[in-house]
Amino acid sequence: MPPTVHPRLVNNPYDDPALFFSFQYEKRALLIDAGDIRALSPKDILKISHVFISHTHMDHFIGFDWLLRLWLGRSKRVNLFGPAGILANVEGKLAGYTWNLTSKYQHMLTLHVTEVHAQGLETQSYRCQHQFRPQSETTWQPFDGTLVREPSFAVSAEILDHFLPCLGFAFKEVFHVNIKKAALDALDLTVGPWLKQFKDALYAQADLGAPFTISPPHAASPITFTLGALCQRIANITPGQKIAYITDVAYHPANMKRILRLAHQADHLFIEAAFLDRDAGIAAEKGHLTARQAGLIAAQAKVKRLTVFHHSPRYAHQAHLLEAEAQDTFREMTSSSI
Ligand SMILES: [Zn+2]
Repeated sequence: MPPTVHPRLVNNPYDDPALFFSFQYEKRALLIDAGDIRALSPKDILKISHVFISHTHMDHFIGFDWLLRLWLGRSKRVNLFGPAGILANVEGKLAGYTWNLTSKYQHMLTLHVTEVHAQGLETQSYRCQHQFRPQSETTWQPFDGTLVREPSFAVSAEILDHFLPCLGFAFKEVFHVNIKKAALDALDLTVGPWLKQFKDALYAQADLGAPFTISPPHAASPITFTLGALCQRIANITPGQKIAYITDVAYHPANMKRILRLAHQADHLFIEAAFLDRDAGIAAEKGHLTARQAGLIAAQAKVKRLTVFHHSPRYAHQAHLLEAEAQDTFREMTSSSI
């Protein structure tokens, strides 16, 4: 069953991390971590509505400037989430440039930045027309583990320990709407914005007996179905997929408890494998995971698929060793627990 959300690591596992989520049939995307994002096309960067930063070590945040560069001059509102300190980090980045001309721009960029604390979510806004100065006092709202809740998906976070607060993230679709291409062809329907409206109606739990009209550009006249009949003809509804992202975490029980809660039964876990287990001492000193630990976590969380990344450069040209150590551990621990 092809998924409607496609997560992909922007780089090879040695380069600065970024995980890009594109949505099928939508001009919409999410980004987790903004490391080296030069391989993302401007078209993809302009689709991003939400950015989630695990922590602001340089290798996870250096791409913020490139995002800003491409968004500037566009009518765009972007939500950015990060751990304690992210407001000061964003303000520091914004203070590094001169904004004397931006108040006259025709298209205005607004950044809504939220700092994730155990006690709540603290948000500040920065508008291009106000030279990206903080708008007013920050606002607070309770944090129940969820950062974004939309009709079709939610993104949750856990505050983890990397000798500083570091966020892990999980993306979860409410349910999965898969469009049957052959059925579209049989009805002589082409892909278009109506597909998003169709999915939005399903996620909004609209009345299945209500009419749903499609106006294909090439058709002589619009075609009307009931929402339920159209759903039966062109869609398969299945449980939503869950994708988890964990990087830069110390291997200790308090972190494990939170990671397992976040990644439990994920369809796909992206997790760092910075060191080989023979160098577990160095991993512990630096607050990172070994490949074996990544495999153990994947097995304990009962995930379906494991992808490792963020390898230390000391293993240049040895990605196969890190990959094998993680996947072998995952497989062995998974089969021994069945
Ligand atoms: Zn780090």
